[in-house]
Amino acid sequence: MAEPSKTTPPVIVVGAGLAGLTAAAFLRRRGIPVRVCEAGKQVAGLASTHVDAQGFSYDFGAHFITNRLAAAIGVSADCLPVAHYGEMVRLGGRTYGYPFGLMRSARFLLSGISARAGQWGATPPQSAADVFRSRYGAALADEVAIPLLESWSGARATDLAPSVATVLNNSIGHTVLLKINSRLRQRAVAIGYCHELPETRHVWHVYPVGGVSLLCRRLANELESCIDLETPVDRIIVEQGRVAAVRANGREQPAAAVVSTAPVHILSRMVTGTDALRPLARFRYRPMVFANLRFTGRGHLPDTMLWTPDGGAPFFRLTETPLSMPWLAPKGHTLITADLGCEVGDAIWTASDEELGERCLQYLDWIPNARRRYLGCRVVRSPVAYPIFLNEYEQDRQALARSTGVEGLYSVGRNGEFAHWLMEDVYWRSLNAMRQLIRDQVAPAA
Ligand SMILES: Cc1cc2nc3c(=O)[nH]c(=O)nc-3n(C[C@H](O)[C@H](O)[C@H](O)COP(=O)(O)OP(=O)(O)OC[C@H]3O[C@@H](n4cnc5c(N)ncnc54)[C@H](O)[C@@H]3O)c2cc1C
Repeated sequence: MAEPSKTTPPVIVVGAGLAGLTAAAFLRRRGIPVRVCEAGKQVAGLASTHVDAQGFSYDFGAHFITNRLAAAIGVSADCLPVAHYGEMVRLGGRTYGYPFGLMRSARFLLSGISARAGQWGATPPQSAADVFRSRYGAALADEVAIPLLESWSGARATDLAPSVATVLNNSIGHTVLLKINSRLRQRAVAIGYCHELPETRHVWHVYPVGGVSLLCRRLANELESCIDLETPVDRIIVEQGRVAAVRANGREQPAAAVVSTAPVHILSRMVTGTDALRPLARFRYRPMVFANLRFTGRGHLPDTMLWTPDGGAPFFRLTETPLSMPWLAPKGHTLITADLGCEVGDAIWTASDEELGERCLQYLDWIPNARRRYLGCRVVRSPVAYPIFLNEYEQDRQALARSTGVEGLYSVGRNGEFAHWLMEDVYWRSLNAMRQLIRDQVAPAA
């Protein structure tokens, strides 16, 4: 860490992913001293991209942003528009458009209608399973929504809080209108992507040339002298209910405030001098392994994303990103990313790239000549890919959404808020949190 300032202590930002860099750039533009401590060797966190020598691009899972976010960060000129994005579900050997194609099945349609009709006077849902059954009907919930939710989270849908289903909260009418606009304009209009600002036909998906990490690199350019890489913060010192300092690389530095983007169970362990964050130690994240399978040819999946709720396969979702973003694989080739939920240290987490590729391939025999076209696999792992909204700590999660309970400590970003935010929401919400920080600093609570 750099020499401590002898005047006003800086606001210390923990983490140089999109949230931390957005927060730091916002504060710096307003003349507030700021330092960013990043544990890793580079910026971008979950928004990192690696492009290999053959020209295949690997993100953590599939990553799309919007033209609105690109404009806000000033990278519009470096982004390519995404013309098409679609999702399908593979069930019992058949594929269905998502979400409306599933209604071709009379069983799903009837159970959906009867669920809607039975909603009057029903008791409030106690779990994600209740929400899905009342929203989609038992057939669609039990055969599609709940198996997907359980593979994704690693928890039983009956143990998950109803709030997990709010991620999917778009009205049918609005979704249809946006889909029609997508077709007419040949632009992948963003649907169900952003919660902070309205989704309209003017907001569509784009992809920055060279990878999504461009967003973070652009913000980092503004902050160059304020970012300390390979500087993991291991203590946030609270005195009399207020943040006083942080410790990183064995050195303490006074802090006017701390903005953490670290996963909240880790934040809970870092904070000393208060018990306010102790409940967060129980919060769990779902580790994920993304197996990126390279193939010759293209168009092996029926659409960009294919959900696979049928039991048996080690993955629950396949994404052929080059169907939306052809530049992510060299010409005449493609990349299919399989999402595998796991636990750190288990057989999936520790499998070699070759083993995982082989394991996925066994379940892709419905792709013509899959084995002959297969070129190999590159695996990307995240120990904290998805927050798991367990009912057992739902009240504490809602309390965290209001405040950390420590003066001068702000927890922002996807893992810092323990929420399923995509990058646009991370961006707008981090700005809002920094506006709040400035208000608190100018007029601290009595
Ligand atoms: C599978 C998957 C697919 C996704 N797809 C999309 C998509 O298509 N579109 C989209 O917009 N978003 C997508 N997202 C979400 C997007 O990646 C995240 O919302 C965003 O990148 C989160 O940024 P962040 O800064 O909050 O967190 P992170 O990127 O996790 O950054 C946190 C940083 O903090 C650092 N850190 C942690 N602890 C410490 C410490 N103690 N000291 C110092 N540094 C520390 C970490 O090293 C990391 O660099 C996806 C996410 C996943 C998991």
